[in-house]
Amino acid sequence: MDFIDEELKRLKDKNLYRVLRPVSTPQDHRIKIAGKSFILLSSNNYLGLANHKLIKKKSAEALIKYGTGAGASRLISGNIELYDELEKTISRFKRTESALVFSSGYAANVGTISALASEKDTIFSDELNHASIIDGCRLSGADIKVYPHSNADKLEWMVKKYRGRGKKFIITDSIFSMDGDIAPLGEIKNIASKHGCILFVDDAHATGVLGKTGRGSSELFRIDGRIDIYMGTLSKALGSAGGFICGKKELIDFLINKSRSFIYSTGLPPSALAAGTAAIELIEKDRSLRDKLLKNVEILKAGLDSLGYDTMKSETQIIPVLMKSEELAIRAFNFLYENGIFVPAIRPPTVPPNMSRLRITVMATHTMKEMEFVLDVFSKMRRAIRI
Ligand SMILES: *Cc1c(COP(=O)(O)O)cnc(C)c1O
Repeated sequence: MDFIDEELKRLKDKNLYRVLRPVSTPQDHRIKIAGKSFILLSSNNYLGLANHKLIKKKSAEALIKYGTGAGASRLISGNIELYDELEKTISRFKRTESALVFSSGYAANVGTISALASEKDTIFSDELNHASIIDGCRLSGADIKVYPHSNADKLEWMVKKYRGRGKKFIITDSIFSMDGDIAPLGEIKNIASKHGCILFVDDAHATGVLGKTGRGSSELFRIDGRIDIYMGTLSKALGSAGGFICGKKELIDFLINKSRSFIYSTGLPPSALAAGTAAIELIEKDRSLRDKLLKNVEILKAGLDSLGYDTMKSETQIIPVLMKSEELAIRAFNFLYENGIFVPAIRPPTVPPNMSRLRITVMATHTMKEMEFVLDVFSKMRRAIRI
């Protein structure tokens, strides 16, 4: 077992070693981590729904009524009736015929891609796609063609060159999780239609955020009902847990029968299902949280840009602050940590070498005072750690 010590030492030497920190408060704009209070700038709980009074109440009621766990996989006896309500709510929200909930977004991606694609098929995948997409592609055994990030021209060129006889898939995140930019989905949809490709879009960070009413990238790009396989999560802006796939009824029936991460995993806890439904209902009724989020994003992004930080191509609530070296990213993390702001440093292999960064995520619940404090600390940081 010496290889374990050797690998851990290598990670430490390269500033790539990771540790877990205990959190002792709900996920919100302020948080207590390892006994210390912080302004939290790294949660995907964008709308604050993970700690929302009404949603917590509905979730607690489900826990009392149905118990703590599903007790079995959904195809055995774990298909609690709350699933039906949740899946109907999701397909109404996403304007699709049908929806299927998985135990996580990771499980939805891995289980769906590997069930649909096989050795004879080809997948065109954006180079910055989420790890769960990459793992699903690998597991499927399909021929994987990685195209340069969001480059629709190159994607079309690659699709045209294709000579195989199997199915063709194009898979992309809508909002990219480490860069905060948005895929050119209008162009990608046209390429998919023109060349007979099946389009798969991962809306993990876009659900509840993008589009006029927060329905996601299909609303923003006006392609409702035209994404063949439309994935999202309940775990980010919706503040609960679980992932889902939306699409035609036959797609959902196929996945129920063929997706291994769906079949061989226990159903979600009733409390998570009820929270998911309540979160979507709240977003459908009340746009004020989303408006507040967008306002906070605008303030923080403009502030960081004017301080001279490189926020890359971010156009969403995910705002990277490029540090390049792992070492500088860690110095920045430490400086912010000392000043009561929690923003982890994102390092390889999550991002390419020399592209280490702070990854800020903004929430609707951050106050104006907190935004001002954060920008003041970032202003001092430039000199303190010599950026
Ligand atoms: C977070 C994320 C997932 C995984 O979702 P979980 O519910 O956390 O498992 C999948 N895709 C993208 C783009 C993500 O950001």
